[in-house]
Amino acid sequence: MPNETAVRAELLEWLDANWDPELSLLEWRRRLAASGWATPAWPTRWGGRALPAAEAAVVTEALADFGAVGPPEGVGMSLAAPTLLEHGNDELNARFLPPTVTGEISWCQLFSEPGAGSDLAGLTTTAELVDGEWSVRGQKVWNTSAHHADYGLLVARTDWDVPKHRGLTYFVLPMRQPGVEVRPLRQANGHASFNEVFLTDARIPAGDIVGETGGGWTVALATLAHERRTPIASMPYAGHAGRVWREALEEATHLRAPYKWYPQRAGRVDLLVPHALTAGRAHDPIVRQELARAITLAWVTRWTAERAAAARKLGKPPGPEGSLAKLGSSNVARAAARAHATIAQGRAMLAGDDGPFDGTIAEVLLSVPAVSIAGGTDEIQRNIIAERVLGLPRDPTVDTTVPFRDVLKNRS
Ligand SMILES: Cc1cc2nc3c(=O)[nH]c(=O)nc-3n(C[C@H](O)[C@H](O)[C@H](O)COP(=O)(O)OP(=O)(O)OC[C@H]3O[C@@H](n4cnc5c(N)ncnc54)[C@H](O)[C@@H]3O)c2cc1C
Repeated sequence: MPNETAVRAELLEWLDANWDPELSLLEWRRRLAASGWATPAWPTRWGGRALPAAEAAVVTEALADFGAVGPPEGVGMSLAAPTLLEHGNDELNARFLPPTVTGEISWCQLFSEPGAGSDLAGLTTTAELVDGEWSVRGQKVWNTSAHHADYGLLVARTDWDVPKHRGLTYFVLPMRQPGVEVRPLRQANGHASFNEVFLTDARIPAGDIVGETGGGWTVALATLAHERRTPIASMPYAGHAGRVWREALEEATHLRAPYKWYPQRAGRVDLLVPHALTAGRAHDPIVRQELARAITLAWVTRWTAERAAAARKLGKPPGPEGSLAKLGSSNVARAAARAHATIAQGRAMLAGDDGPFDGTIAEVLLSVPAVSIAGGTDEIQRNIIAERVLGLPRDPTVDTTVPFRDVLKNRS
C-alpha cells in the first residue's frame, strides 16, 4: 500500500475510535495533539509524527473529509510554531508549542515600526536587561490581531554598537501587561485589523528569547519565509453539528474577524464574470479584454503556486516559483480590481447596499493595495527575485557595516 494511503487508513481508524463531537474543543484538541495527528509533519519529540510533507497534507485533507476539527487558524500555527520549531530552545518549545496547538494561546507579529518596514533591520524598539528581566521601549505598527493576542513575536534591538543586522534579538512578549498598549487602526475600507502597539517598559522574562541574543535577524527571516509561503488556512465550518464544531466556529469567527476583507484584497476574481453579466457589460470589447487579462493571470499564477506546492510535497528546496507567488498575487489583485472598475465605472465607488454586489466591488478597490504591501512590498519582492533568483548584483548599501548607533535615521 503506498504510504499516503496507509497514513489515511491509520488516521481514519484512529478517528473512528476517538472522534467525539460532544467533547469541548479543548478536550478534543488535546486528544488530537496527544496522538500526533494535529501536527503530523512536526518532529515526534514535539508531539508530531515526523511525516514527509506529502503525507502530512493527506492528514489535513482526511481530517476535513471525515468532519473532524483540526488545530486553530492564525499566526500561532502559521508563524509562531514553525519559528519556534526551527529556532526555539527546549524550555521555550515545551512551554509554548502545546497551548498553541490546542488554541489556548494566540499570537501576533510585532516586527514593523513607523520607521522600519521594508528596512526591518533598521528598527529602533530597544530591549535592555533590567533587574534580571528584559525591559522594552518603542513602537510597533500594522500588527494584525494584536488586540486579541496573548503573545507577540517581537524583534527588538539589544545592541546599538554593532551593524544593524547583528544587534537584534527575537523575543516572546506577553501582551497582557501594563507596559503594552494596543490601539486599533481604522482602515479606508472600514475594517480595523491592524494596531499600533506602544511598548513602555514592557517586561519579558530573561530567558524568553528565540535563538541567540543578537541573532534575531536570522530568526526573523525564518518567520518571514513562513509568512510569504503560507496562505491563510480556512477550515470549512458549515454543515457540522456537535459541541466541538460549535466552539470551533466561535473561535474561528473571533480569529477570522480581522481577515474578513482578505477575499476582497485578493481582487474577487470569482466575481468578474458574474459582475460583467449582471451589469449587462459582458459584450463590451474593453470589458472582455480586461476580464481575459485578469482571469488568464489568475490561472497562470495558480498553476505556478501549484508547481511550488508539488515541489514542496516532493521535499525539493524552494525554487523560483515560491518567490514569484507573492508578486503574482499582487498582479492578479490589481488586474481584477481594474476589470471590476471597468465594468462598474463610477458605480464602483459606491460602498454599502447602494454599490454593485452590496458594496463588495468598492471594498475590492479599497483593499487591493494591501496585497502589494503585506509581508514585504512588491518592490522588495522584485529585489529578492533579482538578487536571489536571477543572480543580479545586490542593491548598494551604506549602513550595514557601521555600528547602528552611527547610522542616520529618522528618529528624534
Ligand atoms: C495587510 C497587512 C498586514 C500586515 N500585518 C503586519 C503584522 O501583523 N505585523 C507586522 O509587523 N507588520 C505587518 N504589516 C506591515 C508590513 O510588513 C509593512 O507595511 C511592509 O513591510 C512595508 O513597510 P512600510 O509600510 O514601512 O513601507 P516602507 O518600507 O516605508 O516602503 C515605502 C515604499 O518604498 C518602497 N521601498 C522601500 N525600500 C525599498 C528598496 N530597498 N527598493 C525599492 N523600493 C523600496 C516600498 O516598496 C514602498 O513602496 C502588515 C501590512 C499590511 C498591508
